[in-house]
Amino acid sequence: MIEVRNVKFVYNEGAEDEKEALHNVSFTVNDGEFVALVGHNGSGKSTLARLFNGLLAPSSGIVKVDGMDTSDKKALFDIRKTVGVVFQNPDNQMVASVIEDDVAFGPENLGLASEEISERVEWALKSVGMAEHRKGTPFRLSGGQKQRIAIAGVLAVKPKVMVLDESTAMLDPLGRDEVMNVITRLNREEKMTVIMITHFMEEAALADRIIVMRDGRVAAEGGKEIFRKRELIESAGLELPVAARIAAKLRERGLDIEGDVTLPGELIDALCP
Ligand code: ADP
Ligand code: MG
Repeated sequence: MIEVRNVKFVYNEGAEDEKEALHNVSFTVNDGEFVALVGHNGSGKSTLARLFNGLLAPSSGIVKVDGMDTSDKKALFDIRKTVGVVFQNPDNQMVASVIEDDVAFGPENLGLASEEISERVEWALKSVGMAEHRKGTPFRLSGGQKQRIAIAGVLAVKPKVMVLDESTAMLDPLGRDEVMNVITRLNREEKMTVIMITHFMEEAALADRIIVMRDGRVAAEGGKEIFRKRELIESAGLELPVAARIAAKLRERGLDIEGDVTLPGELIDALCP
């Protein structure tokens, strides 16, 4: 679904403040996969998110989305229909003063019939638990609620790929759980491809695969077994999930804990089989 091949990206190329944000990055994301993209600040995650939907084009190398080259300007409309990105700051993503109009903005741009638009708006708002707010204004909502509206706006376009760039960062733990439940359900039931950029290792642990970025390069990729590589994770400026840290400590003290423990429930199962 997404192919990143030998991608270099330079901001302000040729200027004094030029900055190479990505150096020769390659990976693929399969259709229907749930991938977590993790890494410390400045490691290039948001740059990748902008490359996925053609907001940026690589300085060299290729980014392909569902077979379409993002450097091909004629393909941009279809690429943006295919990849929906939810960004960090919900305030920059609001376009209308009534919530349902805000969520309708994307599907309206697709030129859909008004019945189809209202169905999608209702479905998307229900999916994020904000249906009762549809007539309200987004400006009075909390950051977390605004972010759920932004997610609904992307959902309403029904993209094949949903990219969330630290989109849960402003939510309280409950709101974060709600969003993660929505995202995992969309991935499992609607086969939506999900790329989740996150600082929360517990969220990354829900993914099929984890890609670790460090200083504009892929430092590691793999399944949950990646959390066994404590040094590698920590050298990328990240922390292991709490359950994995506790499991590692218990292993150090001689307890025999089998399997890849990354979620609290798995730790409980390992300790109380
Ligand atoms: P992350 O999302 O992992 O924090 P980014 O992709 O935002 O990382 O940034 C990668 C690098 O590119 C950083 O060094 C950052 O300072 C730089 N960078 C990001 N955006 C810009 C920009 N618009 N202009 C210049 N440099 C940028
Ligand atoms: Mg970022």
